[in-house]
Amino acid sequence: MLPAGWEMVIGLEVHTELKTTTKMFCGCANAFGAEPNTNICPVCLGLPGSLPVLNVRAVDLAMAIGLALHSTIAPSTFHRKNYFYPDMPKDFQISQYDLPINKGGYLDLPDGSRVSIERAHLEEDTGKSTHLGGSGRLQGADHSLVDYNRSGVPLVEIVSGPDMHSAVQARAYAAALRGILIATGASDGRMEEGSMRMDANVSVRRVGEGLGTRCEIKNLNSLRSLQRAIDFEADRQVSLIEGGGVVRQETRHWDELRGETSTMRVKEEAEDYRYFREPDLVDLAPDAAWQARIAASLGAMPAERRAILLARLIEPSAAQLDALDVVVDLGFDELVLGAIDANVDPALALARAANELAASSERVGALAPGSFVETLLMEQAGELSATQAKAVLLEVLEHGESPRAVAAAKGYKQLSPDSLEAIVGELIEAFPEEWTRYQEGDEKLAQFFIGQVMQRTRGQANGKAVVAELRARR
Ligand code: ADP
Ligand code: MG
Ligand code: ZN
Repeated sequence: MLPAGWEMVIGLEVHTELKTTTKMFCGCANAFGAEPNTNICPVCLGLPGSLPVLNVRAVDLAMAIGLALHSTIAPSTFHRKNYFYPDMPKDFQISQYDLPINKGGYLDLPDGSRVSIERAHLEEDTGKSTHLGGSGRLQGADHSLVDYNRSGVPLVEIVSGPDMHSAVQARAYAAALRGILIATGASDGRMEEGSMRMDANVSVRRVGEGLGTRCEIKNLNSLRSLQRAIDFEADRQVSLIEGGGVVRQETRHWDELRGETSTMRVKEEAEDYRYFREPDLVDLAPDAAWQARIAASLGAMPAERRAILLARLIEPSAAQLDALDVVVDLGFDELVLGAIDANVDPALALARAANELAASSERVGALAPGSFVETLLMEQAGELSATQAKAVLLEVLEHGESPRAVAAAKGYKQLSPDSLEAIVGELIEAFPEEWTRYQEGDEKLAQFFIGQVMQRTRGQANGKAVVAELRARR
């Protein structure tokens, strides 16, 4: 919280790596975690004479992002952004400049606020430097290594308007945007692998004043860091101004351990990247048919899916709302809806999806929807305890067997002595003749009663327990 009378202003630049098979301008694999410098070729190494060829799939995904953000898809061009850095072997980055593929747009947040989108443009990623010795930063390092596998990986940079006014709101924006990137299939959203990286522009002002001077905090790679860095930076700027100082426009680094930002480089004037049109690529103007094809391929976005599921919950608790977010985030909402349609209690379906399914989320794709429903119905009917149902789900996820087979193999016969007693009581009343014959010593009738109990409990009763109960009543 800033002191009374102060307001922070935040605009985010989010870079997302696109989930294409190959890189942006060459056929090298776009894959995280490969042996360094194995997915490289003359194009992504920037060797003289090599020529870029645009990856059409990257354009599809950029358009999908734009459509999901209500942007206008516009005729666009590619530019060279010139600067030197060892992880960028061409000494320029191919990016979009004054004519981006996606112009304008907005993103509505769960709290009802709307954040405007300035642009979402295509560009290529750089390689990755690793600085050894010292703190892991270039300053004070003994030596540095460069991996060019990432060089030329397609990126979309999404630039928001300076519309956010708290770190919590900025975090909510980043989370919602991440959900959209995953839902469009554009990104896997894995921040820890650098699939989504954020720069936060932060300024402060006295309420009612125009925009203050901003600082840009580079390379935030978790929602938590984003929120902490913004709060720290806004506090720093307010203290600076209140102490008679002036905020300089600069690029700052976030130190996760110290919990503070520090100067990386000062922007005295706009950096001059000598942008010029990339002469080796033609302009990009997706026609109406191409745009329509992408629009038709888009499913419902997370906000809409969340609303659909929310409508099925009856007075949801805070925990259920949290579970709802997890479920939508992981894309399990269809499974939960299917369970609710099959008369599973919505709260139970949500809880099992947000916990047990989420814990093995990479296996859920192979899960037969019927198995999820069946397990939950068994739990709901009291055939499985909660603990047993969780264990069954886990097993079903791992081995793909049917829940009933798993429960039987595990010997789960969750019929309480009380309910067995009750069922046997009902059967005696329903079959007086059979009961009399059993009482008179016809042991074959025990089999008959076991069959009846099994039918009523869908096979979950323990045969010996039934016989014991019958004997006790004889
Ligand atoms: P640059 O290319 O130098 O980073 P941009 O004009 O692309 O500059 O702006 C980057 C981001 O900074 C945008 O998200 C924008 O909303 C945000 N921004 C611009 N002015 C301010 C400000 N005064 N305070 C906070 N954010 C700002
Ligand atoms: Mg910037
Ligand atoms: Zn290559």
